[in-house]
Order: sequence, then C-alpha cells, then structure tokens
Amino acid sequence: MKKKITLRNKIARYLLVFAGLLIGLLVLFQLVLLQPMYEHSKRQAVARVMESIKEAVLSGDDETLQASIYKASAQSDTCVRVIDSTTDSDQGQIGCVLYRMSYSDVIEQANLASENNDEYVTVLDHGIGIPGMPDKIRKDESGSDFRSIVQTDLVDTEEGTVIVMVYAGLSPVNATTQTLSRQIFFIAIIVVLAMLILTRIMNRHITQPLSAINAAAKSLPEGIYESQQGKAEYEEAQELDETLTQAAEDIRKADKTKRDLIANVSHDLRTPLALISGYGQMMKDLPGEKTDENIQVIIDESNRLTYLVNDLLDLSKLQENKITLERTDFSLTDMLKKEIRKYDVYKVNEGFEITLDADENLIVNADEKRIEQVFNNFMTNAINYSGSGRIIEVRAKAKGSYVHVEVQDHGEGIPEDKLNDIWDRYYKVDKTHVRAVKGSGIGLSIVKQVLELHHARYGVSSRVNEGSIFWFDLPLVKRTDSDTKA
Ligand code: ADP
Repeated sequence: MKKKITLRNKIARYLLVFAGLLIGLLVLFQLVLLQPMYEHSKRQAVARVMESIKEAVLSGDDETLQASIYKASAQSDTCVRVIDSTTDSDQGQIGCVLYRMSYSDVIEQANLASENNDEYVTVLDHGIGIPGMPDKIRKDESGSDFRSIVQTDLVDTEEGTVIVMVYAGLSPVNATTQTLSRQIFFIAIIVVLAMLILTRIMNRHITQPLSAINAAAKSLPEGIYESQQGKAEYEEAQELDETLTQAAEDIRKADKTKRDLIANVSHDLRTPLALISGYGQMMKDLPGEKTDENIQVIIDESNRLTYLVNDLLDLSKLQENKITLERTDFSLTDMLKKEIRKYDVYKVNEGFEITLDADENLIVNADEKRIEQVFNNFMTNAINYSGSGRIIEVRAKAKGSYVHVEVQDHGEGIPEDKLNDIWDRYYKVDKTHVRAVKGSGIGLSIVKQVLELHHARYGVSSRVNEGSIFWFDLPLVKRTDSDTKA
C-alpha cells in the first residue's frame, strides 16, 4: 500500500499554506493595491468636496461659499477654485495650486466638462500639468512624479455658468511601498518561525497521542490493547482509545466463544460418531447383533448429527445476514394447530398433556417457515425440560395490534441469573441433560436471530422447579374474535 503522508507533515503543510496566504494577502493589499485604493479614496474626497462647493454656489450666498472653500482645505487636504465669468469673480484658497493653471487651461477643462455632463475628472501625471513647474518640485526623492486629481464641474446658476475646480495631490506611494515591503519581509520571517513552533506544539498535542494509540493497537488482533487514556489529551483520541479498549475486550470474548464452540461441537459430534461406529463394528463382528433396534440407534444418531450440522449452518447463515425473510400474510392460528399435531406422539407415548388456546384466525405478516422453526424450538425445549410436570400450554392471543404467543411448561425452570445467557450460541444451563435428541444448545440462538430479523419482541419468564414461559409478539394484520381450544 502506498504510504500516506504523516499527520505531522500534513499539519505543517496546512500551516505553510496558511502562512503563504497571509503573506500573499499582505503583499496584495499593502503593495499592489495600495496605489489604486489610495487613488480611489482621494477621488471620493474630491467628489465630496465638489458636492459641498456646488451646494454653496447654488445657495447664492458668498459667505457660505467662502466657508465651504476653507472647510474643504482644512478637512480633506484639497483646494478649490471657483470662477464665475458673469461676475468676473475668481475665489479659492490663497496659494491653491489651481491658481497656477492658466485661464486657457481652465477653459479647456471646462469645455471637457461641458462635453461630459458638466463633470470632468482628470488625473494628471506631472504635478498639476502647469507649464513651467520646475522638475525639482514635480519629482519626489525616488524620482517619481507627483500626481494629482483635478475635478472640474459646471454649475448653472440664475446669473450664468460657474466653473468649480477641486484639486487633490496624490502623494507618491513608492517610499511607503519600500517601507512596507521591508516590514512584510520581517513579518514573513516571524510568521514562518511561529509556524514552525506551532507545528511542534501541535505535533506534541495532536499527533503523539494518536501515534501512542496506534502503537498500542498493533497487538489488537490478539485481543491485547493497553489503554492510553493518560496520553489521550482530547476527546477524539479518548473516544478512539475507548473504542479500541472495547474492541480488544470483544475480540477476547469472541475468541473464547469460538474456542468453546469448537470444543462443544466436537464433543457433540464425537458422541453420535462413537455410537455409530461402535454399533456398526458390533454388527459386523457379531452377526446376531444385526437387529432392528441396533440399526435404529445408527439411524437416530445419524439424524442427530444431521440436526446438529443443519442447526450450525442455519445459525451461521442467520448471523451473517445471508437469510432474507420471505414474508407473507398467513394464519398463525392454523399454523399452530398444524404444528401442535406433530407432538401428539408425546401425548400417546409419554403421557404429555399439550393444549392450545388461540384466538381464531390471527393473520400475521411474517416468514411462516421461520416462525414455525421458532415455535418448534420452544416446543422441543418445553418437552425436553419438562421433567415430571408434563403439561405444556400454548397460547396465542391478540393484544391490541400484536399477537402474543407463549409456550408454557411446568418443568425444571431456569435460574434467574441464567435467563440472559440461554439465548447465547451453544449455551446450556445443565450440560449433562440426556433427553435432548435434537438439542444442540443453539436452538434459542436461532430463535433469537429469527425474531430479531422480524423486529419482534420476545422473552422468557421462569422459576426453578415451577416451569418457564417462552413468548414472542408479532404484529397483527387482522383477526376475528372467537376463541378455539385444542
Ligand atoms: P438445547 O438444544 O440445549 O435445548 P437451546 O438453545 O434450545 O439449546 O436452549 C439453551 C438452554 O436453555 C438449554 O440447554 C436449557 O438449559 C435452557 N432451556 C431452554 N428452554 C428451556 C425450558 N423450557 N426449560 C428449562 N430450560 C430451558
């Protein structure tokens, strides 16, 4: 398998990308976008001043105009020139660079404005484009040109058209950019160092607990896992640690069950095989022993082996979910009546009393063959563990939307502390009982799998020496209400 990148390297990579992104953003905003953003904000400042001056011009009040003009220079580092050709007035801040613009240049700007909805903004690359401005003034220390924005608007008043010009100088950003790039260089070094330190810290707190858990989990296949709880510093690692601890426990249990199963199955196989082989040998050696009874022993023991192997196969299929239910609507009442007849032989030969008390025509939706299997398991157990109390009562009653089926015996019962274990594969309360011709110790685990596949409720209540009631519920499709007794 191709070796994957380690978590430590992965974290380092992510941090590196993060640092690169951070520095990239700094370069983008501080160096590349600085000039356009600065120019944009200056343009907005110029436009704002222009609006306030135009309002003042339209108010027709000279004092308001003067106040607006001076406010503009004080607040936004701009200067203003307002030329009213009808009254020959030319107002603005003293020393405003716009006064160095010749009258013909002003007219040219005004013409451009009139062609452009009475508004014209120009960015001049050399000072304010005033002829004769010395190079010394036009250039900054790094030799870049001073640039400036001039907005020229025409305002129509009752007396005529007024030309309003607003000027803002654009300071060269080159010097600033140089300072910033030096700063960004240092920031980059600090970020990379911080990233290295962070990687180490993260490695200690995130990666190392996982590595410790991983190392401890290497022996998990043998069911061994030493909990790393002390080292698991965060929730996910702790959960993983708990899951693996549980998994180790489950593996140990499964391993024990497997060993028990092999031991039990071999034991159960050995007894009939020994009988078959012993009887066969005896019949071969002693011709007089070829009796029907002896042949019957061989047949019975072979049948017993077949049941055992079939049960085992069935259980393994059920546990691997290889069995799908074939659900149909069928009459549970009819099925119970039919199945219970099979046990008539016990009534006749062994004095059993077997009764059925079932509501008539209980229709359920289930896998009929599998429910038969469940019922027969309950019945066989009831007979096998009846002891001297040979009464077996079967009841099937509708209870709301369910039908409740129970098989009650009055036999040896099951101790309370064993009640949960009997559903486990290959569990026998008393390992020495002799009666179980078909008994393989897996009957109830098959019952459990089948009923769980049906999502049915099931259970047992039992008292030692008084007997047991094994029961299950199935959803009722429909019923009629009259009772029947067998
Ligand atoms: P088995 O083939 O041994 O009967 P089961 O899985 O059917 O296997 O039953 C498991 C164990 O549960 C039995 O060995 C027995 O100890 C106990 N058991 C089951 N049914 C009854 C019952 N009706 N009365 C008493 N004990 C029972």
